[in-house]
This record gives sequence, C-alpha cells and structure tokens, in this order.
Amino acid sequence: MLHLHTIDILNILNGTKRDMILKKAASVIIAVIFLPKVKEINTPPVDTTGEVQACIKKLMTAYPGKFIGATDNAVIWYDNTKMVFDDGTRNKSFKTLLDSADLEDQVCAMSYPRDDFSAPKKYNDPGRIRYEPFFRKMYGNTEKEVRANLIEITWLPKSVNQKIRVSKINGVADKLKKISEELDNYPEFTKYLKKPGGTFIWRTISGTNRLSTHCFGITIDINIDFSNYWQWDNATWKTKGEQIDLTYKNRIPAKIVEIFEKYGFIWGGKWYHYDTMHFEYRPELL
Ligand SMILES: [Zn+2]
Repeated sequence: MLHLHTIDILNILNGTKRDMILKKAASVIIAVIFLPKVKEINTPPVDTTGEVQACIKKLMTAYPGKFIGATDNAVIWYDNTKMVFDDGTRNKSFKTLLDSADLEDQVCAMSYPRDDFSAPKKYNDPGRIRYEPFFRKMYGNTEKEVRANLIEITWLPKSVNQKIRVSKINGVADKLKKISEELDNYPEFTKYLKKPGGTFIWRTISGTNRLSTHCFGITIDINIDFSNYWQWDNATWKTKGEQIDLTYKNRIPAKIVEIFEKYGFIWGGKWYHYDTMHFEYRPELL
C-alpha cells in the first residue's frame, strides 16, 4: 500500500505549490500561537438581584444602535456577535479589575461621581476599568481599522484653532465639536485647552500591556501645563505601583468638566489616580 507522509507529498509537489502549502501551514501555526486568550468563565452567575440585567441595560442605553438585544449574561451586537457580560468572578481586587475586567466591571464596578468635585475616594478610578474587546469591537480592532473611522475637527476654532482627529463612531467627533464650540465661549478657559496633548495614538498604557483609550480616537488630553498626573507628582510610583497614598491635585475648572460630561465624556480628574488632562467618551458611566 502506498503510504505517503506529509513530507513525501511535499517532495513530490512542484516547488511553487510546496511553498504555498508551507506558507499556509506557517500562517495557521502563527494564527494559533497569537490567538487572543479566551477568558475563562467561572460558573455562570445567577442574577438573583437583577443587578447584571440593570447593568446590561445601562450599557445598551448608553450606546444606542450598537446592540440588538441581550441574553441572561451577554449582549448581542448589531452584527449578532455575542459578548459575555459577567465572567462570574466576584470581589476582584483593584489590580485584577485593571488587568482583567469583564464588561460588567467596566460598566458597574465603580461609579462615576457626576456632580461631585471633591477629592476622589481611595482606589476609585471609574473609567479606568475597561474590557478591551469592547473597545476593539466598537472602534476598531487594529490601528488601521481605528484610523479608517477617524475624522478631523477643529478644536476651539475661535481661540485655539487646532486640527484634531477623533472617531466618528457613536458621534464622538460631532460631540467633541459641540464641546469645542461651547468651550470657545469662555476666553478664560483657553489656557487650559490650548496645545491639546493628543487624541489618537496607538500605544499601550505605560508600564502595562493594556491598550490605552487613546488607541480608539475617543480621548483628548488638554494642555499639560495646567494638568496634574499622579505619576508626575509621585516619584515613588515606579516602585510602589498603583498601591500608593496620593494627595489629590487639580487646577482644571469644574465648568470645563461639566461641558465635557454633558456630551458623554468622563474626566480623569475624578480618579484616585488622577489624570486631570484626560477626557474620554464613556457614556455608560454618566
Ligand atoms: Zn489621556
């Protein structure tokens, strides 16, 4: 009986065909190696209190047109993609929330203090808890896909007049344009808003392998000259990491923040790990 091994088959094929097969095999191997890790799901939680459903509703309301429904524990995207909502893990530590949040954590783990401008509570960073697959699905899975959704707007046309590029998805660009027009009516705010530090850049958050929301074109950093960032104020952060005692600092007027919040943007100045230049579109938290 003729028994051919793979390598024999390859040997009898002509060169071009063999190269094609080898290339294909290599690409399959590479794809398997780099497949995103599927998160382990613990025992499916029983939503006895209705909290998960309330949280799902909050997300769906915040992003109209993006979801066509939900199951007990998943949201269904406009293209029928199902995304698990709650991974069943309870009482995650602050670090676990940052490193491996599920969609439920993103929406409901920490509440954003809409009308409160007092110093943030310890380890309350509403907005820093992000489920990365959600943002990749919403705004683009790769730098190229995100770029294809960016459009240019003029930031504060009357006073700053600088072009910035942001995502058109969820009307983010239109909303930022409205924010910009409103802010332009307050000449006393120009100094805080000029020289915006950046909207789109494909990078990971410093010291982590998590993508920054700056990757998705839904974020703007205003003038760093009047901003405070917890890492800049605390040289010890490099050894202590996030578990650090911070003294809150901020110079950004509340009125600026209120205008952003009105259009679905949260402010990094309401985080314990404060980042007062940073605004990002996160309507599910408002
Ligand atoms: Zn930022």
